[in-house]
Amino acid sequence: MSIPSRRTFAIISHPDAGKTTLTEKLLLEGGAIHLAGEVKARGANRRARSDWMKIEQQRGISVTSSVMTFSRTMDGETITFNLLDTPGHEDFSEDTYRTLTAVDSAVMVIDAAKGIEPQTRKLFEVCRLRNVPIITFINKVDREGRDPFALLDEVADALALDVCPMSWPVGMGGTFEGVFDFATGQLRQPSGPSRAFEGTVEQFSGIDDPRLADVLSAQGHETLVSEGELAQGGYASFDLAAYRHGDLTPVYFGSALKLFGVAELIDALGRHAPPPREQPAEPEPVTPDRPDVTGFIFKVQANMDPQHRDRIAFMRLCSGKFRRGMKLIPSGSGKPIAVHSPILFFAQDREIADEAYPGDIIGIPNHGTLRVGDTLSEKADVRITGLPNFAPEILRRVALRDPTKTKQLRKALDDLSEEGVIQVFYPEIGGQWIVGVVGQLQLDVLISRLEAEYKVEAVLEPSPFDTARWLGGSDADIKAFSGINRSNMAADRDGNTVFLAKSAWDVNYQQERNPDLKFSATKER
Ligand code: GDP
Repeated sequence: MSIPSRRTFAIISHPDAGKTTLTEKLLLEGGAIHLAGEVKARGANRRARSDWMKIEQQRGISVTSSVMTFSRTMDGETITFNLLDTPGHEDFSEDTYRTLTAVDSAVMVIDAAKGIEPQTRKLFEVCRLRNVPIITFINKVDREGRDPFALLDEVADALALDVCPMSWPVGMGGTFEGVFDFATGQLRQPSGPSRAFEGTVEQFSGIDDPRLADVLSAQGHETLVSEGELAQGGYASFDLAAYRHGDLTPVYFGSALKLFGVAELIDALGRHAPPPREQPAEPEPVTPDRPDVTGFIFKVQANMDPQHRDRIAFMRLCSGKFRRGMKLIPSGSGKPIAVHSPILFFAQDREIADEAYPGDIIGIPNHGTLRVGDTLSEKADVRITGLPNFAPEILRRVALRDPTKTKQLRKALDDLSEEGVIQVFYPEIGGQWIVGVVGQLQLDVLISRLEAEYKVEAVLEPSPFDTARWLGGSDADIKAFSGINRSNMAADRDGNTVFLAKSAWDVNYQQERNPDLKFSATKER
């Protein structure tokens, strides 16, 4: 099977670094939308339509994530880019982490005035876990920023990566005169009253081309020549294999707002970013050229369309050619489902997909049969692994205001844990259930959805536990340990044994005393 070209990627950044702006400009440049501002407007409209998403409005953040697609023909080949949006707020990171399991590469946006920020670092760690290659975009060079060398060194030191500057800003802020591309010798300069990039490109033979003096100020020219030489000499040169292996990051300087570096970024993604990669799976990894369809669910979203109380499961296609109406078998239930109305998320509208290829994301409407972590396949002979559940950092006891609603509560907690909104733990002793989340916002979402969708009023009380670990080991060892520590034992939604710990210290202590057991902070599904 010949597989059409795909680049499936996400943008990782700290809030305010410019992810939304860059997304908008990538889509604009890629021809997917025609008016800047549409991404946000569309988001706002969508949010206004759904009740529980009011939280997003109240907190001014984006909880929903979606998929945007654009394409470009490069060297005679049409490449489709699938951009998976990740919620940027640090509170809701579990969702973001899972989204990163569905991409083949990432673009890391850094604010030139701020450098690496906490959220950038966290997201980077997730990419590193999976060797996701990263292209760095240092944004906002149209404003006063930090010294470009200091920024490069910070990326190299903080993230332990080789950095390779691919372009260079001629000044920043008030002295900004353009961006020079080392590989092509092109200088892009600002024009017009907004000092944005409006297509003024000049071709040079290199930074030593004397004609550069004609288009730059004396100071700008000197900056480019001296800094450019140092930049090219002092850092690693671009090495495709090292980049794809996650050891080296090519660095582009630009301004999303003023359109500098955006076309270059698309170009870099098209030329260097990996096409769909092999996915870890049992009994053996899934390669994209495998003829039968396989994919996995990395996200489930409820209430996107309040007219229908359906959920949309987002599946990343890993192999085979998907056709509408196809029967696929979810690893969770084992019962084949016919996928009659899959959705491809194009930039503006949801479009009904007829076919999709490895690297594509399709939305599958369902009534709760599909769960995060499920593999879908034609033959049910494979399980894609590596989609983590993270040990919760906040645990709360759920107490009902109306004790007759126990059944509804259990159903709601099961549903919401299937969607991946929360994790739920059923303790061995005592009737009060415990929910676990990675960030506070998940708890707000929980309470609001319990009320709105399940008519259950609940309060969250402090729990004596601080964290949870999945237990691994022989059945006999687990049983012996559970017998001694009954008040700390619980089962998760899937019946796995979980140790609820009062502190991280407690986990270490137990691990030392029980070397044959494994106390895992992530559960791979
Ligand atoms: P997000 O939180 O990462 O999605 O960031 P946004 O895209 O919403 O950008 C945050 C702020 O930075 C907004 O006010 C943007 O207009 C501004 N911004 C984004 N990119 C640039 C840029 O290249 N230059 C300048 N000067 N401002 C920018």
